[in-house]
Amino acid sequence: MEIDGHQSELDSVEVTEPQEIQTHHRCNIVAFLKRNTFVILTVTAVASGIGLGFALRPLNMSDRDVRYLMFPGELLMRILQMLMLPLIVSSLISGTSSVDRKAYGRIGLRAICYYMLTTLIAAFTGIVLAVIIQPGNWSRNPSASSGGRAEAVQSVDAVLDLIRNMIPSNLVEACFRKFKTVYSRSVSSGFNITEANNTVPVPGSSDGMNMLGLLVFSVAFGLILGSMESQGKPLRDFFDCLNKAVMHLVNIFIWVLPVGIFFLLAGQVVKMTDTGEMGQEVAMYILTVIAGLLIHSFLTLPLIYFSVTRKNPFRLMSGVLQALATAFGTSSSSATLPVTLHCMEVNHSMDKRVTRFMLPTGATMNMDGAALYEAVAALFITQLHNMNFDLGQIIILSLIVTAASTGAAGIPQAGLVSMVIVLSSAGLPTENISLLIMVDWILDRLRTTTNVLGDCIGVGVVQHLSRRELQSSGPAGERLMEENLHL
Ligand code: ASP
Repeated sequence: MEIDGHQSELDSVEVTEPQEIQTHHRCNIVAFLKRNTFVILTVTAVASGIGLGFALRPLNMSDRDVRYLMFPGELLMRILQMLMLPLIVSSLISGTSSVDRKAYGRIGLRAICYYMLTTLIAAFTGIVLAVIIQPGNWSRNPSASSGGRAEAVQSVDAVLDLIRNMIPSNLVEACFRKFKTVYSRSVSSGFNITEANNTVPVPGSSDGMNMLGLLVFSVAFGLILGSMESQGKPLRDFFDCLNKAVMHLVNIFIWVLPVGIFFLLAGQVVKMTDTGEMGQEVAMYILTVIAGLLIHSFLTLPLIYFSVTRKNPFRLMSGVLQALATAFGTSSSSATLPVTLHCMEVNHSMDKRVTRFMLPTGATMNMDGAALYEAVAALFITQLHNMNFDLGQIIILSLIVTAASTGAAGIPQAGLVSMVIVLSSAGLPTENISLLIMVDWILDRLRTTTNVLGDCIGVGVVQHLSRRELQSSGPAGERLMEENLHL
């Protein structure tokens, strides 16, 4: 009987074990799908949006129809832009007020070194590839040199505008307008005819949030709040609470992201210029930029991350896939910021004191993709004009590109605008810019994705290097650390 009993028990084990394994596998798959629903939906939206765009191209849709098609995407952009202002201000103030000033000095310094180093490497990668591939000398196609003349921008004025924007004269105005030098014809010169033909720089403005000004103010304000001990507590609590509430909103709105991205990309593919109309040089130029972005994203940045942290960079990259897809869909690092913060804080449980400081700053100032693109584009134009650059000029070009990309805002096609500054600073002709405009929609998306990846890797690197300061950063820091643990 006993033996029979054992036998039947063993039978039941043999029968149930494969079933258990199967159920276990099923549970694993379900858990994986649940954990990655957002990512899967967003990546599917990117692929199917591009697919739909190609399917609709033969219909030759009118501009009006394309606008209607992109309407849900337009709503997504509006949502992300709506969240930007409260998110940037609250995350910077609550982040900087939670670490003691000495520690922040060191974290800030590391962040700036990382930004400078990676942007310079990106610019060099672009230069080396453009010198090796020579996209502008691919074939001597006369159509390549046709193009409109872009408005001349004085590089000194551009740099001064950048500094002026860091110090906004009116904080409310900074929420929707930036300072910009405009040029007007001098009329006050009376009889002096030569003066009448000159243009003089006068103060003007352009639409859009002055991110740099808000950033500088929020960091300064946060640092002062942090040093005010118990007196500063009510405001610190206020900004902490505001930040949490906005992040909750982000968590809700994130569900509409795939729908918006789907329509944005479908509309963009319908609108794009026929590839057959592009010259061979332009095709080679696109390939050079793409090769550079791939090298920077899959080799340089992961290597930097691995050599500093000894952790797998591709794990970090898989956790921010959704932010990367959003960057590709929106062409804007600033609009992607809510999703980037969500991915780094929720998926990777990164320290909020670092993410809240570094991600808004990075979205405004750290543009590896833009630097690489601008370096390739500048050399592409010199090649089109048969101009030769020596080593000294190339070094100067990389420095100009680094500065210009830092000054570019995290908005669609900002890199193209600062490109004009690079060209005039390097003494290059600004004609041919229309060639670059034609293909900028795709390069903008790709470089924005690299920009956002650079910001995320930067958080990982700086957090690792600052782990000691973060462990001993006073009561306010401990409060945020507890929050980190509860994520
Ligand atoms: N669109 C880019 C960004 O938002 C900037 C650029 O045009 O290079 O990061």
